[in-house]
Amino acid sequence: MRRETHFLFAFLVGFFLTEIIGFFESIATFSFKERVANAIFCSFGSLLPDVIEVPEKRKHRKFFHSVTTLLIMLFFSIYFIKNNELRIASFLIGYASHLFLDFFTAFKLPLI
Ligand SMILES: [Zn+2]
Repeated sequence: MRRETHFLFAFLVGFFLTEIIGFFESIATFSFKERVANAIFCSFGSLLPDVIEVPEKRKHRKFFHSVTTLLIMLFFSIYFIKNNELRIASFLIGYASHLFLDFFTAFKLPLI
């Protein structure tokens, strides 16, 4: 999947983080500035998987593109949300959003 697609998807996820988190638990709404900051952190997090595992070949997806890593990222995102570290959580959610999108491509994600 293209880098721009990951970046834009993560930006939207970060921007609407309040609504996404609010779906699971009540949290104070963010100001516009906070939304943009979360979106930026989220966008940069979404670029990281392809920096670690450069998509030169079709089979580039290893551990850092795996379902296991996706679950680890979601686990730590919840941890940081609960500790009110939303910037770190946004970054990790951005990473997870990359794997989420890659999951729906023809090559899917390896389990480990
Ligand atoms: Zn990727």
